[in-house]
Amino acid sequence: ASINEYYDIAFKVMLLGDSAVGKTCILVRFKDGAFLGGNFIATVGIDFRNKVVSVDNLKIKLQIWDTAGQERFRSVTHAYYRDAQGNLCFFILHFLAWLTEIHEYAQKNVVIMLLGNKSDMAAERVVKTEEGEKLAKEYGVPFMETSAKTGVNVELAFLAIAKELKHRA
Ligand code: GDP
Ligand code: MG
Repeated sequence: ASINEYYDIAFKVMLLGDSAVGKTCILVRFKDGAFLGGNFIATVGIDFRNKVVSVDNLKIKLQIWDTAGQERFRSVTHAYYRDAQGNLCFFILHFLAWLTEIHEYAQKNVVIMLLGNKSDMAAERVVKTEEGEKLAKEYGVPFMETSAKTGVNVELAFLAIAKELKHRA
């Protein structure tokens, strides 16, 4: 994909969640199809990647913003919420704290999707599937379990949010 890849419509999507849940790995998996395993490199500040996906016959450019979840970076993040149309990867850990942030800073009709990552680690997972499903139901948002390591559901999660963004646009 070139820098000038054709698209019909563009949306900005934020990846939000606590540190080390796998936001950067999910983005790398989606963009490059690879797993950034091994060393944990903390994202400093904010970085973004573009990727064009097809929904029906429309080319949708997702401008995906990777954020640092650490408390000390939150003030940096706030400015980026305002013009984001979508928030993917609301990892379940501290989901409510993130939801409060979105409600405070994001657009009113923002699209939210809850993701539980590291589904490949079933046994040692911090948050169980049922908890994720329950939370998502309670707050009326879609829930998906992903793995940046195996790639399971990563593309589907981004496609799902692209679809919803298109639907609401
Ligand atoms: P971030 O702080 O949310 O950006 O988290 P990172 O993407 O840097 O990932 C934190 C750590 O979790 C790294 O050591 C990754 O290799 C690991 N990790 C990320 N996603 C997965 C996953 O789906 N499965 C497994 N097993 N490890 C993962
Ligand atoms: Mg990161």
